[in-house]
Amino acid sequence: MSPRRARRMDPMMGKGRRTEPPRPVEDALRGSERLESWPDGDWKVRQVSGAGSDKLYRCPGCDHEIRPGLPHVVSWPAWSGGEGERRHWHTACWRKRVDRGPGRSRY
Ligand SMILES: [Zn+2]
Repeated sequence: MSPRRARRMDPMMGKGRRTEPPRPVEDALRGSERLESWPDGDWKVRQVSGAGSDKLYRCPGCDHEIRPGLPHVVSWPAWSGGEGERRHWHTACWRKRVDRGPGRSRY
């Protein structure tokens, strides 16, 4: 039961079955998720490469489009139910978000 043994590829043993199912893309993205504290609360922020997506998003910071393939961030409130309020931002716009001052909505 050495962990090294499992890593070795043995063509005879591996025949007909796979040891590990392929990981969904979502799992890989989850790895770069982090919690950020801002004056308006805690936010989950995920860095996305944009690669593999052909969706066009609109950045709430500058109201411009985020082109497919452009690295950007996805953020949502860290409080309960916040997952439903995910927004795609240009990385720079997210950073400058609070500079817009109070009185603006959080998007
Ligand atoms: Zn922007």
